[in-house]
Amino acid sequence: MVTRRAVVTAMAGAGVAAGQAGAAPAVHDVVVVGAGVFGAWTAWALAQAGKRVAVVDAYGAGHARASSGGESRVIRFSYGGDPLYSSMAQNSLADWKALSARTGEPVFHETGVLWFSPSGDEYMARSLDWLLRHGVEHRAMDLADLGAAYPQIVFRAGESGFLETRTGALIAGRGVRARLRDAKLEVTVARAEAPQAADAGLYSVAGLRTRNIVYACGPWLPKLFPEVLAGRITATRQEVFHFGAPAGDRRFAPPALPVWADFNGGDMVYGLPDLEGQGFKLAFDRHGPEVDPDTQERRVSDEGLARARAYLAQRFPGLAGAPLVMSRVCQYENSSNGDFLIDRLPGHDNVWLVGGGSGHGFKHGPAVGRRVAAHVLDAALAVEPRFSLATKGKVAARTVY
Ligand SMILES: Cc1cc2nc3c(=O)[nH]c(=O)nc-3n(C[C@H](O)[C@H](O)[C@H](O)COP(=O)(O)OP(=O)(O)OC[C@H]3O[C@@H](n4cnc5c(N)ncnc54)[C@H](O)[C@@H]3O)c2cc1C
Repeated sequence: MVTRRAVVTAMAGAGVAAGQAGAAPAVHDVVVVGAGVFGAWTAWALAQAGKRVAVVDAYGAGHARASSGGESRVIRFSYGGDPLYSSMAQNSLADWKALSARTGEPVFHETGVLWFSPSGDEYMARSLDWLLRHGVEHRAMDLADLGAAYPQIVFRAGESGFLETRTGALIAGRGVRARLRDAKLEVTVARAEAPQAADAGLYSVAGLRTRNIVYACGPWLPKLFPEVLAGRITATRQEVFHFGAPAGDRRFAPPALPVWADFNGGDMVYGLPDLEGQGFKLAFDRHGPEVDPDTQERRVSDEGLARARAYLAQRFPGLAGAPLVMSRVCQYENSSNGDFLIDRLPGHDNVWLVGGGSGHGFKHGPAVGRRVAAHVLDAALAVEPRFSLATKGKVAARTVY
């Protein structure tokens, strides 16, 4: 029996093979350019809807240079009460859990996410209120509670926090590859250009003929469409540090330590406990300098490492002298305020631009993929104003954390 999934794969392969042989290539319903988290879940959602989908990526799925590559990402519901991202995160977690249950290796670790800040912080209060109003399991904690539950963290006088108990960490590159593999979607490694018009109202991209194109190119979007997106999506260098606790010391691994976020008035510092032996992860959410995702050097800076060690000494003194066991340099693909981009390429009804993950996009991959698929399937579906190209400015003024 030939299953629909097998047909999807076969059609994708046939299109490429026929194109190479010079025969009339198959027509795809959709070519998804970009096999990061947004592209992978979009391709999945379209294949689920019975569409013939091909996926093309310049370097492969969840690779080292992609924003979706590498080890872990935080999935949390708290967004300062922002209903759009809070509910998208909630919906996405269900999809991540389903994927995690289907794969041999975990994609989601339910560690919980601990937030802390000086008491009275408005963002924190709005987040807590959202959790309460939506009946989301959590535990509000005063300074004494925090100190008792997490003696490995130094909390300061006047701080309080809360624990989202059912959220946690996603395994990033593995999750992207698992999504595609599970949907039997193979990735063609090729660098795509801007869309070319083909015959019969079709498009041609990466040697494939298609009715629709989704460019889910993350930090590369402004390189592909400079006239539309230069200055509207900017790639910034972000450094990630993993420190190793002494052998047998489980204070910095689950269940003793959840994912944590020191909200710090919006200049957030966050980290993950030692997952799968990858070390305790620490990162600063502050935007680094602008970079080119193809050519930026991937070695962490001495200044960044010194800053990470200084933070450890203050907040996690048990790791003050810990060795750096792993590090990663990635890039955020920031919109001016942190809202995503899901809109048509101007002048092209069937070409979609998807990106602007802005340092918080990974968790939302499933919700973004479902939304993009819904647009492709229903041309009348209105674009969410916050995701529109028209709302993407050129002056950085971050409002989404
Ligand atoms: C250090 C760091 C920490 C983060 N932490 C979190 C977190 O804790 N929680 C969270 O939710 N999010 C987090 N994020 C954000 C999240 O990882 C990103 O928003 C998300 O991965 C973006 O995915 P994407 O699919 O848009 O882009 P990408 O993953 O970059 O995928 C784009 C793909 O398009 C391909 N491509 C580009 N141009 C072309 C072309 N012309 N032809 C073919 N292929 C092309 C690229 O090769 C790439 O594979 C973090 C990001 C970083 C860098």
